[in-house]
Amino acid sequence: MYSDVSKILFTKEQIQKRVNELGKQISDEFRGQEVLMVCVLKGSSVFYADLVRAMDIPVEFDFIHVSSYEGSVTTGEVKINKDLTVDITGKNIVVVEDIIDTGVTMKALVPMLLARGPKSVKVCAMLDKPARRRVDFKGDYIGFEIPDEFVIGYGLDYAHKYRNIPEICVFDTSKLNK
Ligand code: IMP
Ligand code: MG
Repeated sequence: MYSDVSKILFTKEQIQKRVNELGKQISDEFRGQEVLMVCVLKGSSVFYADLVRAMDIPVEFDFIHVSSYEGSVTTGEVKINKDLTVDITGKNIVVVEDIIDTGVTMKALVPMLLARGPKSVKVCAMLDKPARRRVDFKGDYIGFEIPDEFVIGYGLDYAHKYRNIPEICVFDTSKLNK
């Protein structure tokens, strides 16, 4: 076990099983149509790579990098650090996010994408931490609901590290004050 990890929440096997289910669910929902899978960098990169490979319909890839402003609950805005390169007009979009925490990022991003005239926008998040919600937001496809604990691994970071841990783990917060 990694020294900065207090426990493993989901093993590789549990993640793989759930990601395969999500891939099938999204494929079934869009069968006969095309879908643009949008990876929200950087956290969802690992989940995204597994999810798209669990899908059996034609998908298009694109990537966006956003950060939420401090106090964005009131402004309802996110800063786009790297925008999509694809024109999303008339397309089915599935935004792939690592975790919905306060809900601020997705609550702001979805309307920004809708303003560009896509056919539909859905949100798929690997994790959902409903206890932390500050704005009302519900994802369309959720991997796992988790309690209010800080998690790392499977793309998720603490201070830019630990994204490459294959499991989803609870970060050992006793390390924070050292
Ligand atoms: P929001 O609070 O719903 O806007 O979530 C914004 C972002 O915070 C997520 O996309 C993650 O990158 C990050 N985040 C929230 N909770 C955690 C966590 O437990 N571990 C790592 N990153 C997190
Ligand atoms: Mg993120």
